[in-house]
Amino acid sequence: MLGLTNTYKGHRLSRSMERVNERSEPDPLRILVVEDEAHIANFLRMGLTYEGFEVATAGDAESALEQIGNAQFHLVILDLMLPGTDGLVLAEQLRRDPDLLIIMLTARDQVADRIIGLNAGADDYLVKPFDFEELLARIRAVTRHRLPQHSEVLRAGAITIDQVRRSVTLDGTPIDLTLTEYELLRLFLLNPRRVLPRQLILDRVWGYDFYGNENNVEVYIGYLRRKLGDEARRLIETVRGVGYRLNV
Ligand code: CA
Repeated sequence: MLGLTNTYKGHRLSRSMERVNERSEPDPLRILVVEDEAHIANFLRMGLTYEGFEVATAGDAESALEQIGNAQFHLVILDLMLPGTDGLVLAEQLRRDPDLLIIMLTARDQVADRIIGLNAGADDYLVKPFDFEELLARIRAVTRHRLPQHSEVLRAGAITIDQVRRSVTLDGTPIDLTLTEYELLRLFLLNPRRVLPRQLILDRVWGYDFYGNENNVEVYIGYLRRKLGDEARRLIETVRGVGYRLNV
């Protein structure tokens, strides 16, 4: 018996009232990543944190249950293959809280296993290795209509990103960016005033399985500064020896 439902709902109610009264920004989505492979767990924690989510990680089912008992989460990203208690068994337990969303990760690319996963109460699943953008799309899909949505339009100075249309404008004029340039610029606009280390930018924009050089980041910052001109040179500051920061 988990005993999550009442406190979880109560917490949500008070949080939403607080939001109406005091805040214009929606509360961040709180995500628990349950994954024993440390490099994947760390990649997800970092990537999702920089998307504006609040993220905790657990390496096994016991640790996951303990964290869920101590804090409220909206969504669990659950790896099927865990040491000790299996991910499917954990999903069945988590399912007793009808408000808790579950996205299952599985390395087994077999239809039968997917069906088992969904029967065990997963809202969706992803087969490893997966694309980070695909995970984000699934998170948006399962949380739609249930949780406050992140803003679809991001702004910094004269630069605007429309995340739905994947378009960028400078002073209202459309700017043609490659996908990599777009993702890089979007990462900055999602994280104003925050120093973004080069390695983090590489992981987030190029992916955790990319073994490229950190100079790539510098090259692409150069592209952005060229395409977005004075505004990008003014906004994207080089933090010597560390990385970059968007100043707004
Ligand atoms: Ca695993």
